[in-house]
Amino acid sequence: MKRFELECINCHTRMSLTRHLSGCPKCGENILEARYDLSELNVEAWVDDLGRRRHSLWRYAEVLPITDAANIVSLGEGDTPLIRSRVLAANLGLKHLYIKDERQGPTASFKDRQATVAISALKELGVEEVVVASTGNVAIAYAAYGARAGIKVWAFFPTLTPNEKMREAALYGAEVIKVTGTYDQTKELAAKFAARRGIFLDRGIKSTAAIEAMKTMAYEIAEQLAFDREMLPAVPDDNARWRSPDWFIQGVSGGMGPIGVGKGFREMYDFGLIDRMPKMGIVQSEGCAPMVEAFQRGQRIATPVERPDTVIATLATGNPGRAYELLYDYVQDFGGTFISASDQQAFDATRVLARNDGISVEPATGVTFAGLFKMVQEGIIKPDDVVVVNCSGHTLPVELEILDEQWQRQFDVSHRAHAPALPPESLISALEGLSENVRRVVVMEDNVDAARLIARVMQARGDYDVRLAHDGAEGMALVRDFQPDLVVTDLMMPGVDGFAVIEQMKADPRLNSIPIVVITAKELTARERGWLNDQVHLLLQKGGSIDEDLVEKLVTKIE
Ligand SMILES: *Cc1c(COP(=O)(O)O)cnc(C)c1O
Ligand SMILES: [Zn+2]
Repeated sequence: MKRFELECINCHTRMSLTRHLSGCPKCGENILEARYDLSELNVEAWVDDLGRRRHSLWRYAEVLPITDAANIVSLGEGDTPLIRSRVLAANLGLKHLYIKDERQGPTASFKDRQATVAISALKELGVEEVVVASTGNVAIAYAAYGARAGIKVWAFFPTLTPNEKMREAALYGAEVIKVTGTYDQTKELAAKFAARRGIFLDRGIKSTAAIEAMKTMAYEIAEQLAFDREMLPAVPDDNARWRSPDWFIQGVSGGMGPIGVGKGFREMYDFGLIDRMPKMGIVQSEGCAPMVEAFQRGQRIATPVERPDTVIATLATGNPGRAYELLYDYVQDFGGTFISASDQQAFDATRVLARNDGISVEPATGVTFAGLFKMVQEGIIKPDDVVVVNCSGHTLPVELEILDEQWQRQFDVSHRAHAPALPPESLISALEGLSENVRRVVVMEDNVDAARLIARVMQARGDYDVRLAHDGAEGMALVRDFQPDLVVTDLMMPGVDGFAVIEQMKADPRLNSIPIVVITAKELTARERGWLNDQVHLLLQKGGSIDEDLVEKLVTKIE
């Protein structure tokens, strides 16, 4: 056997890594695992030597899929700190909470691990250009390592990816292609583009590089926890050199992180370096949680989520494929659970973590911590458990999501005028075009009383033909039928909500010029507000309920 081979996780066919490989030649499966010939490895001597090696994940080169060290493209990734939480741990009632600080990589997410392994492997294969589809962090990391290796990166992003992330990839010289569609659609388009242009598609190496790279996190965790052994609960017959946690927790999209980490613990177990496998806590964003939904139904096959409903692009893989099966099997064998958290819970958790332990994370990691909070509340995680959380990424766009517009206080010393509560000039001038032509109005509001009130006040003011709908689906049907001059909508409605209504109207050439007024009690993030201001004619925020005053304001503004 060569130093390593690849093995299909589905049909177990073995093959070598070549530049033409785009999955298992026999069954087409995308996930291929590396298998090493370690018959000559003296584990004790190897572990002794690790302490003398340069600090990067390449300390574990014996179990990484590169043949010639000269091909390694490194920026000092990996070997990140394992931080023992104090304040957050105390607030949660956990005695041993650790944060694996993956923000401290060269491009500030744990995708640096994947990129160093993938780009090094591409260099070894002689590949000069690569196409990658990404929700953000993979492409940023590939772009950085690609720049260093002289490999050109074509980066395809879905609609949801924040511009800041795309700009970062562009800064490293990647060709940035923004696709109007979901992540799964973006992957398809990237594959077509690569095939047509004859460019290497990342998919051929992706799973192998990702799994092998992510497993180094497990090695580091076990090695780092061993330093704290004295502080940790005693384990009966613990003769192993390193120490496993009881839990590894991560916010999951494609699932490569925990699959890799699981493989790492398995390898260490087989080496005799640890004597127990950790449980796995898999957290997904509520609006894109195919794994959690399948797990709750007791199913080993996940149903893809066609239209992910989350602003957290990093976690928006709708179709997890076989990755879920691997994780399901892991949880069956060694324990753990799948749990989801809403975007709002993720932003709240982000704020808590930042204020408790001084760690600022991107929303995907906020999801992880929100999941941790739930697992503690539900008693799934016990106070004495040794818990490691993958603190997977930090990026600038996060502040936009979690701070409202009052995060900054301005004080203008040049004149003492007070800023008005609302900037009415811009609103009123924006409304001038509407005036007398507005007669046919559709109001979407799930609160029946509020809807009637809007209709009543409008009809009292003029000759309005107002039609009411109690949710977005009913409202959209009405809009298509009735072709109103104006749509007034709430944001929070069951089923199709106000955001979806606006998206659907804007996407329909027959409806996209109809002005929209949003009346909402929802607390808006800066990003939501920014988006709404671009899409709608007028945004009115109410306190708890709709009152006559508010409707008066609406009517005077559209008249
Ligand atoms: C990619 C990514 C995830 C999800 O990782 P998977 O293991 O592939 O599901 C979570 N957090 C951050 C910051 C990421 O970049
Ligand atoms: Zn196969």
